[in-house]
Amino acid sequence: MTPDSALQLQKLGYDCIIESGAGVAAGFADADYEAAGVAVAKTAAALWKDADIIAKVRPPTDTEVKRLNGDKTLISFFYPASNEALMEAASQKGASVIAMDMVPRISRAQKMDALSSMANIAGYRAVIEAGNNFGRFFTGQITAAGKVPPAKVLVVGAGVAGLAAIGTSTSLGAITYAFDVRPEVAEQVESMGAQFVYLDFEEEQADGSSSGGYASVSSPEFREAQLAKFRELAPEVDIVITTALIPNREAPELWTEDMVKAMKPGSVIIDLAAERGGNCKLTVKDEKIVTENGVTIVGYTDFPSRMATQSSTLYATNIRHLMTDLTPEKDGVAVHDMEDDVIRGATIAHKSEITFPPPPPKVQ
Ligand code: NAD
Repeated sequence: MTPDSALQLQKLGYDCIIESGAGVAAGFADADYEAAGVAVAKTAAALWKDADIIAKVRPPTDTEVKRLNGDKTLISFFYPASNEALMEAASQKGASVIAMDMVPRISRAQKMDALSSMANIAGYRAVIEAGNNFGRFFTGQITAAGKVPPAKVLVVGAGVAGLAAIGTSTSLGAITYAFDVRPEVAEQVESMGAQFVYLDFEEEQADGSSSGGYASVSSPEFREAQLAKFRELAPEVDIVITTALIPNREAPELWTEDMVKAMKPGSVIIDLAAERGGNCKLTVKDEKIVTENGVTIVGYTDFPSRMATQSSTLYATNIRHLMTDLTPEKDGVAVHDMEDDVIRGATIAHKSEITFPPPPPKVQ
C-alpha cells in the first residue's frame, strides 16, 4: 500500500491499516500514510489481528499462517506449485488466499499482473546495474579527447524483463542485440531499435517456442545452433543480460564457461534467471563475482527491491486493481466470485479447500 493507493482503497469502502515502518524503505513514512487516512499498527501481530484482508509481498511465514482464519483473505506472491505445505496449512485455516503470481496473463488482468510489473523493473534495473559495473559509456562519442565506440549489449530472452532491458539499453545508446526462441518477438525487438539475432537453423526459429505464449524446452539441434551463435558473439559483446525462463523448470543454461572465458576483460553479465539456477554456468545466486579473466557476473535476485519506491508503487497499484475487482459494490466487502476467470485463477485456497491449480481461463 502506498499513501496514494490507500486513498483509492478507501473509495472502495475499506478502512486501511499499515504496519508501522512498512513503507520506509520505499520512501513512505508512517506520517504520509496517516495523512492519507491510514491507521498505523505498532506491530505486525496487531495488524494481522485487526485486518480482514492482508496484502504483502512475500509468501506468508509459518507464524503468519497461524494468524489466518476463515474470516481473513491473504494476498501475496505465493508460488503455490513449490509451496504446497504452506498452501495446505493456509487452506486448513479456512482463509481465502490470492497468489499474485497466479493472476492469469490475459488482457483484462494486465493491470493486476505483478509478475509483469516486477519483471519490467528488473529488466530496467539490470541495465543500470550493468552500467554501474562497466567501465565505459553505453553510447558512442566523438570527443576532443578521443573517439569512444558504443557498448554492445546482448539480451537473451525477450519476454517482459528482456524487452524492458532492450528498451533501456537502446535508450542509453548501446548497440543492442536480442535473442529469443519465440520468433514472434523479433518484430518487437526491432521496433525498439535493437537487432534480433537469427540462427543458421534449417527450420524456422520456432523450435523452442510457444506453448501459450511461453517457451518450451529446445531440441538438442536447436540448442546447439543457439550456443554456436552465442560463441560467435561472446568475444564481441561487452554486456550480456540473460532473462531466459521456461515455466515450471530450472532456467536453461545458455551462457557456458567457455563463452565467459571468451569475453573481454571488463565485460559484464547480469543473470536475471539466477533465482531459478541461472542462464550462465558461473552465476552465483545473490552474489557478484569477478572471473579470472575480468568478467563481472551479477546473480542478484532482488532487483525490484533495489528500486523499492518504483516497485512498491507499481505493486500497490496492481493490488488496488485486484481489490477493485473484488469489490463490485464499492462497499468495503470483498466478494470472491469464483466464476470470474481472474479471481478464480489467482485464488489458491478458499473456504477450506485448495483451489490450485485453476482450470484454464475461459477468455483470452
Ligand atoms: P518468462 O519470464 O517465462 O521467460 C522470459 C523469456 O525467455 C521468454 O520470452 C522466453 O521465450 C525466453 N526463453 C526461454 N527459453 C529461452 C532460450 N533457450 N533462449 C532464449 N530465450 C528463451 O516470460 P515472460 O516475460 O513472463 O512472458 C512470456 C510471454 O507472456 C510473452 O509472450 C509475454 O508477452 C506474455 N505475457 C502476456 C501478458 C498478457 O497479459 N497478455 C502478460 C505478461 C506476459
